[in-house]
Amino acid sequence: MAKVELRGVGKVYDGAVRAVDNANIVVEDKEFVVLVGPSGCGKSTTLRMIAGLEDITEGELLIDSELMNDVPPKDRNIAMVFQNYALYPHMTVYENMSFGLRIKKVNKDEIDRRVHEAAHILDIEKFLERKPKALSGGQRQRVAVGRAIVRKPKVFLFDEPLSNLDAKLRIQMRAEISSLHHRLDATMIYVTHDQVEAMTMADKIVVYKDGKIQQTGSPLHLYNYPGNKFVAGFIGSPPMNFLTVTVLEENGALTLGAGNFKLKVSTEHTEYLKKYVNKDVYLGIRPEDLSFSADAGAPDIIPLTISVVEPLGADTTLWLNTKTQSIVARTDPSYTFKIGEAVNFIPNMEKARYFDKETELAILPMQQQLPQQLPDIGMGI
Ligand code: ADP
Repeated sequence: MAKVELRGVGKVYDGAVRAVDNANIVVEDKEFVVLVGPSGCGKSTTLRMIAGLEDITEGELLIDSELMNDVPPKDRNIAMVFQNYALYPHMTVYENMSFGLRIKKVNKDEIDRRVHEAAHILDIEKFLERKPKALSGGQRQRVAVGRAIVRKPKVFLFDEPLSNLDAKLRIQMRAEISSLHHRLDATMIYVTHDQVEAMTMADKIVVYKDGKIQQTGSPLHLYNYPGNKFVAGFIGSPPMNFLTVTVLEENGALTLGAGNFKLKVSTEHTEYLKKYVNKDVYLGIRPEDLSFSADAGAPDIIPLTISVVEPLGADTTLWLNTKTQSIVARTDPSYTFKIGEAVNFIPNMEKARYFDKETELAILPMQQQLPQQLPDIGMGI
């Protein structure tokens, strides 16, 4: 059992810099939770407070319901894997992996058994007698993970562990860590600025901005029901498009107007957009929810001009402009598009998301927002 709870946790450095504000997170036993957000938003500070490497300024940290605020790091039964591997250069892989156990005076046979078991899981048995400098970046990161595994911790913490690896190796290691999570059946908390890592690895994602948690939920919940414009734009690549549109009422039906185009609001969204009639809102449309229309006279089209074409093979990304705004669309690669061409796209209005211009909170019906919202930050519900 290893459940981690943060209750109103905050961190102020040197009495001046507020790095984390009122973090409430529940990491269930065996869960893989990813803390994600742009650089400097307080993710690593949160992780370091869990590890005991930073003091907690406010709030409570509990592991398996026991208060940990003042428990020294070595007694928290946690292992951390760092971005820079933090291996001892003068020690062999075997010595690096066994170091923590030797300090704890675990007996030699047990150490040997655990090191070989971890090395086998990570496929690094043949490197046990090498020094770190004779290993590739990926192999070093495996040793760092191995050093965590041998300790049989209650909780694994990962701080941007893949950032120093090249793109291909990152994808491979990402899958390896996910698979490790299933094999070890362990509680894991993982920090990254990369939303793709968050989406692909997490059971639960916690999105941070400026030291504050913006939203918590499963990857698909956050993707489909972002609680605010920041989360909507951060999760998903290419990111969600935001168009400023005016909500208009015509014969009881709602439309969205923006200069040279007009779109019908889908019926399930009408009810909660009513209070925005004659006001501007952000219309959020994901790139994959825009489809090319060869018919310039079709209803609900957005007239656009192509500014960049990026053929990716499986699909093509188009960068497009309305008269005043920019849009990204992900399209079928079988069409041939040219830069400067005038084209029309139809947004899937059922999948549209709306955000308040002032607060940037989602304008969504409550039932869609519910299961995984945080109660304390007023996510537009
Ligand atoms: P992230 O991991 O999301 O990139 P951090 O948790 O490292 O962000 O940092 C959050 C904020 O706290 C940043 O503004 C950073 O400059 C500040 N910070 C981090 N460590 C210290 C420190 N030791 N002293 C003062 N400020 C710090």
